[in-house]
Amino acid sequence: MNQVYDCALGRVTCLVDGAKVFGAEVFPSVEPDYRLALLGAAGVTEIRTEFNAFLLELPGQPLTLVDVGCGQLFGPDAGKLAGLLAAQGIAASDVERVIFTHLHGDHVGGALDGDTQVFPNAEMLVHKDELTRWWGTGRPGDLFQSVYAGRIQPVCDAQELSPGIVTWHLPGHTPGHMGLRLADELVIVGDIMHAEVLQLPDPQIASMYDDDPEIGRASRLAALAEIADRGLVYAGGHQLGPSKFGRLKRQGKSFVKVAA
Ligand SMILES: [Zn+2]
Repeated sequence: MNQVYDCALGRVTCLVDGAKVFGAEVFPSVEPDYRLALLGAAGVTEIRTEFNAFLLELPGQPLTLVDVGCGQLFGPDAGKLAGLLAAQGIAASDVERVIFTHLHGDHVGGALDGDTQVFPNAEMLVHKDELTRWWGTGRPGDLFQSVYAGRIQPVCDAQELSPGIVTWHLPGHTPGHMGLRLADELVIVGDIMHAEVLQLPDPQIASMYDDDPEIGRASRLAALAEIADRGLVYAGGHQLGPSKFGRLKRQGKSFVKVAA
């Protein structure tokens, strides 16, 4: 499923690279009864997730992807990004810039075809702390740095990457995890949440994928509060449909998503 949001800078399209169901172990602090209650309140029976990437078609700016999906790393249920781009007449060689929210396999895997480049002409932008996090680990974020050596540009917090696109450091999930602010209207918030059915009603819930759950919790709470209080439109790495772009309303200590 693709979904489009037209912001002041141009068109942003969510491209769904794949999907899976999370087991209960992904949210280790959530007791079974509580999990069932939260799922029941959302009208679902399992913790589904989707792997989202974003295509930025902004007049006067480089053709940009935000994250590139799983590639071959997560089996046949993912790795659909290339086909989705092709369906829009976009070849990998047309992509001029990739901005990574972080370097987990489900966000960087699509840049790797074994140990060769998928995007031969794109500048690669990554938060500087993310490069340090993965360097020498043998993980996809390390392989990525070898494969794209010389074409990776480290960025930092609150950096304007091009007119109207500003980085938003949201550490915790990983040290260099970041979101993007577009025209101060739309924010792409990466992996501050992995399952909105649990983490919007209870933003204290962390996932097992968070490097530092405490720091991640603070980033999540700050981001959700700002989205709600400033009326921003948001999207992220694991939001489900039908509306990939939403706004947030506060409800006590919880947040409720409404379609943008
Ligand atoms: Zn992710």
